[in-house]
Amino acid sequence: ASAKAYKDAALSKRLADRSYRPALDSDPTFVGDVERISGTTAHLCYQCGTCTGSCPSAPRSSYRIRNFMRRTNLGLKEVSLNDPDLWLCTTCYTCSDRCPRDLIPTDVIMAMRNMAAAQGVLPKNMLGTVNFIYQTGHGVPNSDGNRAARVKLGLEPEPETTSKYPEYLPAIRKILEAYGTKQLADKVLAEG
Ligand code: SF4
Ligand code: SF4
Repeated sequence: ASAKAYKDAALSKRLADRSYRPALDSDPTFVGDVERISGTTAHLCYQCGTCTGSCPSAPRSSYRIRNFMRRTNLGLKEVSLNDPDLWLCTTCYTCSDRCPRDLIPTDVIMAMRNMAAAQGVLPKNMLGTVNFIYQTGHGVPNSDGNRAARVKLGLEPEPETTSKYPEYLPAIRKILEAYGTKQLADKVLAEG
């Protein structure tokens, strides 16, 4: 069938051009890369919005997981990787439990975070957390208040982690160094 002619000649031309990309930074390789890293077939998303409707971050922020799914399929790589909302997913996996297409939107976000980190695009508070993990093995280290609360509940003051077994810390540090995460945190935080 021939393409429908619109009154707006420029629009007609764009709609007839099968190579037309909707934004200057649209990258046709993005969806394939996200699918390869995440292991989920993001192109099957039909934008029902169940993910956003289930997301605990959505009512508290401008973060919309459905928007990131759409951007994936539009190839909007730079917009996605540089959006601070990318870091507001709590990785609770509720969206992944409920997606009617059996997609794993959480892993799409994790794939994008990995891609952003590879470009050195990370929020500073995340890099501060890297340093906490490097120093203690925890993103949120144990504290006196927490220890007192644990004892009150009949628990040992230290959990069964590096808090109790600090001898495993060198292995955690080795992982952070092997992936360059610690070096990246030091570099970006030193830049201020
Ligand atoms: Fe797409 Fe699944 Fe979210 Fe629906 S729930 S918008 S199909 S990712
Ligand atoms: Fe929202 Fe992330 Fe939880 Fe999905 S995994 S519902 S995107 S917070």
